[in-house]
Amino acid sequence: MSKEKQFVTEITPQGEDFSRWYIDVIKKAELMDYSPVRGCIVFRPDGYEIWEHIKEELDRRFKETGHRNAYFPLFIPESFFQKEKEHVEGFNPELPWVTEAGGELLEERLAIRPTSETMIGHMYSKWIHSYRDLPVLINQWANVVRWEKRTLPFLRTSEFLWQEGHTAHETESEAREETMRMLETYRSFVEDYLAIPVISGEKTPSERFAGAVDTYSIEAMMKDGRAVQAGTSHYLGNKFAVAFDIKFLDRDNQQQFAHTTSWGVSTRLIGSLIMVHGDDRGLVLPPKVAPTQVIMIPIGPPKTRDAVIARVDELYCQLKGAGVRVRVDDRSDMSPGWKFNEYEMRGVPIRLELGPRDMDNGVCVLVSRVSGEKRIVAQADLVSEISRMLEEVHHEMYEKAKSFRADNTHAVDTLDEMKALLEQKRGFVTAGWCGSAACEKQVKEETGATSRNIPFDPAERKANCLCCGEKAEHTVVFARAY
Ligand SMILES: [Zn+2]
Repeated sequence: MSKEKQFVTEITPQGEDFSRWYIDVIKKAELMDYSPVRGCIVFRPDGYEIWEHIKEELDRRFKETGHRNAYFPLFIPESFFQKEKEHVEGFNPELPWVTEAGGELLEERLAIRPTSETMIGHMYSKWIHSYRDLPVLINQWANVVRWEKRTLPFLRTSEFLWQEGHTAHETESEAREETMRMLETYRSFVEDYLAIPVISGEKTPSERFAGAVDTYSIEAMMKDGRAVQAGTSHYLGNKFAVAFDIKFLDRDNQQQFAHTTSWGVSTRLIGSLIMVHGDDRGLVLPPKVAPTQVIMIPIGPPKTRDAVIARVDELYCQLKGAGVRVRVDDRSDMSPGWKFNEYEMRGVPIRLELGPRDMDNGVCVLVSRVSGEKRIVAQADLVSEISRMLEEVHHEMYEKAKSFRADNTHAVDTLDEMKALLEQKRGFVTAGWCGSAACEKQVKEETGATSRNIPFDPAERKANCLCCGEKAEHTVVFARAY
C-alpha cells in the first residue's frame, strides 16, 4: 500500500460512518483527548486555540455593544434552584452536587453551575434599585457542568466552556431588543468568522430554555444532515426578576420588576465547524480561527536546502510581521509528501511550497486546503496574496456549506411525506405547523426529528400543519439534532 493510501485509511470516510470520522479526525489532529473523568475532555493546544480565537472576536463584539465582563462563583446554593420552578425542573436531573467539604457535611448542598441565571439574579437584586441602575449588561466567560448521559467531544460534554450574557432592563421592549441584538451578533459572528451559514429563528415552546418566555436560536447543518444549535438568546420576561426580587423604582417612583435576558454560545462551536467543513482528508479550518493559517514547506534536493530554508525564513518573517499565523516545517526527516498530507489533515487553510526553481523565478506556490487550487505568486506580493487568499478561502467555505444546506433541505406537506423522505435522505425538513405541542411531539416520535426553530425568514411558507392538516401558524425547520 502506498504511503498516501495508508494515510487516508487512518480516517474513516464520512460516507461510511460520520461519527467515527469525527472522532478519528479530532483525535488525529490533536484537538482533544478523553480525560479520566467520564464525559469530560481535554482541550489540547490546537483545540483550545480555536476557542481562544472565537473568544477574542466575540468578546470584542460584546464590548462593542456595551457589555462588560464579570465573574460569578462556580457553586450555587440549592435554595436558589427552588426559586424558579421551571428552571429547577429543567436543570435538576443534570446537576452535580457538592455535599461535603473540609471534612464536614455542608449545611446546604451546593450545585456546580449548569448556567448562572440564579446566582446572577441574586446579585442583581442587590445592585439594582432605581431605573438609573439600568440597564445592566454583563457577560461571563466560564465553565459549566451538565451531567449528560450521552456525550460527544465538543458537542455535548459534562463540563464545557462558554460565555453567558445576563442583562437587566427597564422595559420589555428594551429587553426584547437586547435579545434580538445578541442573536444577530451570534449570527453574524458564526457566518463571518466560522463560515457557517445559520438559520435564525424562534424556538417552539417545548424547546425553550427552562424558565424563558421566548428563546431564539441559530441552527447549523452538519455534513451528515443533522442540526446543531449553535447559539441561543432568551427573553426571560419578569420570571427571574420575580423569583430573585430584582426590583427598581421607575421614573414615576413606582416599584417595578426588571426585564432580563440571557444568551450564550459554547465550545459546541468547535464541534460544529469541524462537522460543517471537514472532509475525508481531515479538518478544514476556517482561516479566521485556524491556529495555523499558512504552513510553509521548503522542498528540493539536499544541495539547495540551506538556500531555500534561508529564503523561507525571510518570507516567514514578512508574513508573521503582517499578523498572519504562519509556521515553517523544515524537518529533514519527513518527506514533503508526508507533510502535505499531515497539514491537510490538520486543516491548515493554505500550504506554501518553495523549491529551488521557485527561488530562481522569485515565486512560490500556494495551495488552498478547501479547493486544492494551486497558485503561483510573486514572492514580492506574498503578504497581499496570502491575505487575499485567506479571505477567498473563507468565502468559498461559506458558499460551499450554504449550497450543501440548500441541497439537503426539503419542504414537505405531510408527516407521511416527511417519514418517507427521511428514510431516503438526510437533512432539514421544512413544514407547516399548527402550533400544537401534540403535533410537534408526534413528529418527534415518528421521525426522530425535533423542531429546530421557526425561521424569521423561511424560503417558503406552508399553509397547513403536516400532522393534523389544520391551518399552519408557522413554518418550522425540523431535523435530527446533536
Ligand atoms: Zn397540527
